Amino acid sequence: MTSAVGHLFTTETGNEALFLATADIARLRETIGTIRSRPEVAGPAPDIAALEELGQELDDLEEAGRPSPAPLVTTPAARAWIELLHEQVRIIAELDGQKRLRLHLTCSACGNAVLVNPVDEQAKAARRTQERRDATTSLLAEDFADFDPDHPFLSAFASVMRHAGQGDSPAAAGARTCESCRGTDFESAVVVFCPGCRARRTETVVVACPDCGYDFRLLAPKTELWGAPDEARHAFNLALLSEGASSFESGLWRKQRAALTEALSGHEDLIALCRCGIPGEVGRYVALLFTSTQFVWARESLVSGTTSGGAPWREVVAVTNPHSSATGFTSGLALHLSGGTSMTFNDFRGVGVALGEHEISFDAEGVRRLAKDLQGKTAISAS
Ligand SMILES: [Zn+2]
Ligand SMILES: [Zn+2]
Repeated sequence: MTSAVGHLFTTETGNEALFLATADIARLRETIGTIRSRPEVAGPAPDIAALEELGQELDDLEEAGRPSPAPLVTTPAARAWIELLHEQVRIIAELDGQKRLRLHLTCSACGNAVLVNPVDEQAKAARRTQERRDATTSLLAEDFADFDPDHPFLSAFASVMRHAGQGDSPAAAGARTCESCRGTDFESAVVVFCPGCRARRTETVVVACPDCGYDFRLLAPKTELWGAPDEARHAFNLALLSEGASSFESGLWRKQRAALTEALSGHEDLIALCRCGIPGEVGRYVALLFTSTQFVWARESLVSGTTSGGAPWREVVAVTNPHSSATGFTSGLALHLSGGTSMTFNDFRGVGVALGEHEISFDAEGVRRLAKDLQGKTAISAS
C-alpha cells in the first residue's frame, strides 16, 4: 500500500470538506515552498504564519505515508490560503492568456538578469530540441492541457512556479545561455504585468496591485472548492480504490472497476480487495471488495459479460466455510443474508490489497475472519 491517494481536508465543524489527490498535494506543497521562500504578496493576504503551518501539516502528512480517511482539520486561515492559492491558478492562467506573464531569469553564475516570454522560450526550446510542438501554445496552456478536470487545483500555477523555481523549464534547461558569461544555469521567477497600470509585479502572490489598486481576483471567477463531506469522502474512496486496483492481482478490469466504483458511497471506509472464484467455475474472475458497510463483488472474464452484486453487512446473518458444510468446494467464504439467500466465493489464494489500516490475511480463513468481524454491522464512523 502506497500513499499515492490523497487526503481529505475539513472545516472545524466538519460541515464542509475537500479531497485533494496526491499530485495536487505535492503541487500545493511545492507552491507553498515557493511562497515561503519569498513571501511577497501584492495586496491583502491571510496570515503568512498560517501558510507555514499548513505547509508543515502537509509535510507531516507526506511523512506519515499511509492514506487515511481521517480528514485534516483546517483553520479558517489555512482554508483562506488554500482558496487563495486555488484562485491564483486562475489568475495566473488568465494573465498568461492575456500575454501578461513573463519569466525573470537570473544567471546563477554572474547575476545577469533577463526577462523572457515563456511563449518565445517554449518555441525556441521546441526548435532546439526539434520536438514537434505548437509554438503558439504557451507554457501554461500546455500545462493546463494535462490536468485532471476533477482536480483543477494548483496544477498550472505550481507548474509555472516549478518552471520558475527550479530551472527545469525549457527556458532554463540548456535552451538558453547567459549573454554575459555563457552560463546555462538560471534562477527564475514569474513576473506579471498589471492589467490596470502595466506595472511589473514580481510578488509570488498577486491579489491587488499596490500601485493602482487593480483587483486581480476579478480575473478569477469564484468557484466553490469545498463541498459536502460525503462528496469529498466519495472522491477519496474512488481514489483509494483506483490506487488499490494498481496492485490488484491480474489487474482490476474496466467493467469490474466500474461496477465496484458504482457501488461506493461517501459513507463508508474501504477495507480490502481480493480476487477469488465462485463455485463451479475454473477461473478466478471475481473481484471482491470489503468496506465498512458492505461487500461488493464483480465478475468479469474474457468471454463473459460483467455481473456484480453485493449486500450491506447488516443483512449478513452468518458467515460459514462452504467446505465445512459439505458442499464439496474448496475452502471458501459463504455469506448468508437475512432474506434467506447466500453468496459463496472460493479459491482465495492469500493475495489481496488491504485498503484500510489493518493487515489482512487473504487466505479463505482470513477472509472469513474479516467477514465475521463485519457481519451484522451497520454504517460506522464515516459521516
Ligand atoms: Zn551569466
Ligand atoms: Zn496596477
